[in-house]
Amino acid sequence: MNDLQQLYQEVIIDHNKCPRNFYVMEHAHCQADGYNPLCGDQLTVYLHLKDDIISELSFVGKGCAISVASASIMTDYLRGKTIQEAENIFEEFHQGIISDNPASMAGLGKLAILQGVHNYPSRIKCATLAWHALKAALTHQSMPVSTE
Ligand code: ZN
Repeated sequence: MNDLQQLYQEVIIDHNKCPRNFYVMEHAHCQADGYNPLCGDQLTVYLHLKDDIISELSFVGKGCAISVASASIMTDYLRGKTIQEAENIFEEFHQGIISDNPASMAGLGKLAILQGVHNYPSRIKCATLAWHALKAALTHQSMPVSTE
């Protein structure tokens, strides 16, 4: 196992054990459910907006370590970003995670650690579930999203 893979494992374990921003947000402006039937991951993402800035993000749910860790890292990373920035980051993150190039997420700070999921293709849907839910929430869809 190289250093990056080891760091990946450690970050996933840490965020899964102590997820950040893990609570139901009573005053959310929008929220969306995400469901990944392949793995059984089920998350709800909540957003509080101040003008076009995401001032608060949280999530609840249950799922595998990767889905929970990815949601935890996402809610930390996107706080304070604008909706447009969040959408751009989602695109970059999604492209990066399906890419063969480990440097493809170099501009994404600690999100880049999730590029390690690339080594486990069946887990890519786990890693992107919270992001799909976020996107659904931002587009004000109240319909649950599925990765299928
Ligand atoms: Zn999963």
